[in-house]
Amino acid sequence: MAEEKTIFELIIEGKIPCDKVFESDEFLAFKDINPKAPIHILIVPKEHFKDFSKIPPELMAKMTSFIHELCAFLDIKEFKLLTNCGKKAGQEVFHLHFHLLSGF
Ligand code: AMP
Repeated sequence: MAEEKTIFELIIEGKIPCDKVFESDEFLAFKDINPKAPIHILIVPKEHFKDFSKIPPELMAKMTSFIHELCAFLDIKEFKLLTNCGKKAGQEVFHLHFHLLSGF
């Protein structure tokens, strides 16, 4: 039986709205609904990976470029970038995402 889709997959499919910040063919960046910093953006690949341990390194390299472009677009030079990998590490949504926190 297929696993239930995560909220981020539904956002990527356009079935649930989000506050979109930046997008490419392969990645999407949108504002966190419960921000923990003045700027709190989530970055996701459009392809589904449950966490950081599953993304192929070649795609991770492209994601890195996307995050660099996002920071340039927002003119953010100082920030925290983190991903929670696994329930015990605090992951709540099981579709890979990076938190970009800034504006402190
Ligand atoms: P994590 O604990 O790393 O899985 O983080 C999940 C993050 O997703 C939390 O910071 C939530 O505030 C955020 N979140 C949950 N639902 C939504 C949503 N519909 N739109 C934007 N952010 C969300």
